Amino acid sequence: MKLKDKSKVNIGFYPTPLHKLSRLSSLTGKADMYIKRDDMTGIGGGGNKLRKLEYIVKEAIDAGCNTLLTYGGVQTNHGRLTAAVAGMNGMKSVIICFGPIPERMSGNLVLDRMFGAELVFMDTTEILKLPQDQMVEAFYKMKDESTSQVLEKYNVQGDKVFEIPMGGLSPAGTLGYFYAVKEIMQQCKEQKINPEYLVVSNGTGGTYAGLFLGAKYYNAPFKIKAISVAPLQEDAQQTLSNFINDVSKEFELGIKCDASDIDLSADYYGDGYNIPDAITRKAVYRLAETEGVIVDPCYTGKGFRGFLDMVEREVIPAQSSAIFLHTGGVPGIWTEEHNEAMRNDLW
Ligand SMILES: *Cc1c(COP(=O)(O)O)cnc(C)c1O
Repeated sequence: MKLKDKSKVNIGFYPTPLHKLSRLSSLTGKADMYIKRDDMTGIGGGGNKLRKLEYIVKEAIDAGCNTLLTYGGVQTNHGRLTAAVAGMNGMKSVIICFGPIPERMSGNLVLDRMFGAELVFMDTTEILKLPQDQMVEAFYKMKDESTSQVLEKYNVQGDKVFEIPMGGLSPAGTLGYFYAVKEIMQQCKEQKINPEYLVVSNGTGGTYAGLFLGAKYYNAPFKIKAISVAPLQEDAQQTLSNFINDVSKEFELGIKCDASDIDLSADYYGDGYNIPDAITRKAVYRLAETEGVIVDPCYTGKGFRGFLDMVEREVIPAQSSAIFLHTGGVPGIWTEEHNEAMRNDLW
């Protein structure tokens, strides 16, 4: 399919702001730090999944579906935005959450329910105790069973369900950040800045994939650096480059990516996915105190921690400028696990 034949529904408010972190930059005294505010995409509490969902929802509508089903951790931001977007388009939504039902409704869960989503909790507690290969197998089996149950229930009601992969990781979803590169380049031109790097938190890799392809396609002046929010599988670079090549082929972009082209750091995820850690919290507080900008402890706090560290250690050269892409996730501040950890620091 040609790129120009792939359309979207318009949901977010663009361009999102790109601004300098003036006080933080002058206190740090190294590279000029900028932030691209995709926490301000404008709907459902904002975040990076909105740019992806604009393309994905178009596919769902074209397929004649009236229900969106997606997956994620219990506090999935992607699930929250899927629910918001479903409601806006007169659709139903279901989120299959990987984890037991939490005791308290907090953070994204409050918003999921406000947007009208049905939540299905898939209790993975026992599965996580299994050895790695057995765990993966048992996980997918359980996920398939949960999916079948949801499909069955909705099909019987006469609803037509569109399945969205975790994190909105799909070729169509990737176009969101492919085109965001164009938007960022335009803003850089207007503000007369020439950043060397664009740094982003990495989960499923779809945001990075879109940025990577967009940067090559539009010949961006900046290189993309991704910071993983979780430990990486051995073949993470290979998997991501395969995905990028698939998307490139799908939309006839003519871009080739090798595993060695992937700039993905595993230095800043702390103790694991969504596990509170003191160094990430310190970075979260630093940005809040100096700039009034909120990053979350699961995704953007880790990415920002990496960004700040690379600026301080001059991995990002002192004479240059660089952008941190704020991918949202702010409701994570108000989750049980992180509130508990923050209380010890702040209360
Ligand atoms: C999903 C998410 C990411 C990671 O995006 P991927 O495209 O999955 O790599 C980063 N930040 C926030 C806040 C997210 O919700």
